[in-house]
Amino acid sequence: MKISRTELMRNNWPRVRFPVVICVLLVSAFPVLAVDELAFLVTADPHFGYRSDESLNVANIQAMNTVGASASSTPRGVLLAGDTTHDGTQSQWNTFQYHYPLSGGMGSEQVHYPVYECTGNHDREEISGDDSVPVDGVISRHGSLLYSWDWEGVHFVSLDLYPTQENSAWLENHLANSVSQPDTPIVIMSHYGYDEIYSRSWWGNWNSQSAAFLDVIDGYNIIALIHGHIHGSFHYVWEGYDVYTPGSPKVEGEKNSFGLVAIEDDVFTWTEYFWTLEGEISVDWTDQKTIVSPEPMTINLLGVGLLVLSRKKGAKH
Ligand SMILES: [Zn+2]
Repeated sequence: MKISRTELMRNNWPRVRFPVVICVLLVSAFPVLAVDELAFLVTADPHFGYRSDESLNVANIQAMNTVGASASSTPRGVLLAGDTTHDGTQSQWNTFQYHYPLSGGMGSEQVHYPVYECTGNHDREEISGDDSVPVDGVISRHGSLLYSWDWEGVHFVSLDLYPTQENSAWLENHLANSVSQPDTPIVIMSHYGYDEIYSRSWWGNWNSQSAAFLDVIDGYNIIALIHGHIHGSFHYVWEGYDVYTPGSPKVEGEKNSFGLVAIEDDVFTWTEYFWTLEGEISVDWTDQKTIVSPEPMTINLLGVGLLVLSRKKGAKH
C-alpha cells in the first residue's frame, strides 16, 4: 500500500515513529538552504587612471548606488573583481580608494557599500613595472590577497588573480577549516575566469591549475564563480559550475554594466544592469536558479532514509 508522507505523518505516526524520527533527524542535520534575504553588487575592471576624468567610473558607482537603494534588500557590499587601476600607480590606487572606500562612503561619487576587491593583471608587476601599490593596498585593506567573509550563511572567498596552484592549495586548507556544513553556499571571486577566449591563456598553466582547482572545490556547494577581466557580462557554465562576469566602466561603449545578486530562501538571482553616462539604467539580462545541495549528499540522504524505511517496513511484515 502506498501512502503519502502527509498521511503517514497524520494517521500513522504512532506506529511508524522510529523510522520517521530517523529520517527527520537525518534531514535536519543537513538543512536545505534557507538564506533569509541577501543582496550584493558585483563590478569589475574600473581601471582607475585609464582616462583623464573618471566620469565613467562615477556613472557606474552612481548607478550601483541607485539600484542598491531600490533593491528589496539593502546590498551588504560590492565585490570588485580586479583591475582596480590601469597602471598600478600610487595616485591611481588613491583614486580607487576614494571612490571605493573599504567600508563604503556617503559622498556622491563614492560607492555607498563596503568593498571587497581583488587585484587584476593591470594592478600587478607585469603591467606596472616594480610597482605593487594595489597588491599592498589590498593586503592592508583585507589582511591578505586571499581572504574570506560570510553574509547570511553564504561563504565568500577572494582568490585574487586566479586559482593558481598556491591559491588552490590555500583554498583547500581554508575550506576544510572554515566550511563545516557541506551545504554551505560558497561564492568564489577572482580576476581571470574560465572562458576559453579571454581567460585561459592568462593562467600560468591552464590544464594543471584548473584541474587542481576543480579537485579542491569538488563536493562543496559552489553557487557562483565570479570574475572580471573580459569587460563583458556573461553567465556561462564551466564543468558544471555557474560562472558570472559583470561588465566594466573602463571604456564607453564596452559593456557598461554591473550585477546585483539577490538570494532569497534558495533562489539565486543575478540581474545585470546596463547604464549610460546620461544616467539611464536598464536591465540587461537576468539569470535565476534554485540553489541545490551537491548531488552526492542529496542522493546519500535519500538513500539512507529510504533504506531505513524499507528495512523497518520489511521487519514488520
Ligand atoms: Zn581589465
